Amino acid sequence: MTIAISALFGLLIGSFLTVVVDRVPRGASVVQPGSACGNCGLRLGPLDLVPVLSWVALRGRCRQCHTSIGIEPLVLELSTSLLFGLTAWHFGASWATPAFCVLFAGLLALSWIDLRTKRLPREITYCTAALGLPLLVVAALVERTPERIWMMVLGAGIAVGIMSLIYVASRGGMGDGDVRLSPLLGAYLGWLNPGLVPVGLFFGFACGAVVGVGLVLAKRGDLKTAVPFGPFLALGTVLAIFHGQRYIDIILVR
Ligand SMILES: [Zn+2]
Repeated sequence: MTIAISALFGLLIGSFLTVVVDRVPRGASVVQPGSACGNCGLRLGPLDLVPVLSWVALRGRCRQCHTSIGIEPLVLELSTSLLFGLTAWHFGASWATPAFCVLFAGLLALSWIDLRTKRLPREITYCTAALGLPLLVVAALVERTPERIWMMVLGAGIAVGIMSLIYVASRGGMGDGDVRLSPLLGAYLGWLNPGLVPVGLFFGFACGAVVGVGLVLAKRGDLKTAVPFGPFLALGTVLAIFHGQRYIDIILVR
């Protein structure tokens, strides 16, 4: 039941994220005006804003001028829904579920924008932190595990430390946005276990390196410019949140 509600909520948030990824890079407001067709300017009514169903009903086209809206809104809505459902399945009916959903919504929007514009808008990083970190603190207090608050601080510190070193060593290969995002990721991973921070960053670098080398071999540019790193940082964090603990267990058992 929690999973179903969370997945449904993910569709609504995903629908909002399509507006965010479209407008934030242009510096436009995400609230005003209401959504409109990019081609003919037709204002979308309440029925057009129903996620997925309206897209399927209109087959991804504008009601008035039949211009294709593209498949991106559908992909973003469904991936948000999937991640929210997965979060509820993993954390159950607890405060951790909304806290981690906030992170995943933020990471989806940031990755989406980074892939298109190679930027990680700081507004989204700060909004995600402002909404998510208080929820993590509430979750720690409600679950009577106040030590998690210190673990968050420690995780954020570890992440900033590692990323700053890489930032200096890469001499411009990594963007400021990636470093700015790292304490948020570190705080979330630290809340679970500060040992997850290097695991998450390593997952991110490993995925980024594989894809980056693949692109270089395909002659799509050099390693420094070919790959926006934000999506891999996000992917590594998500993997570490759901799967990282077992790697720590393996190392500790040996
Ligand atoms: Zn139109």
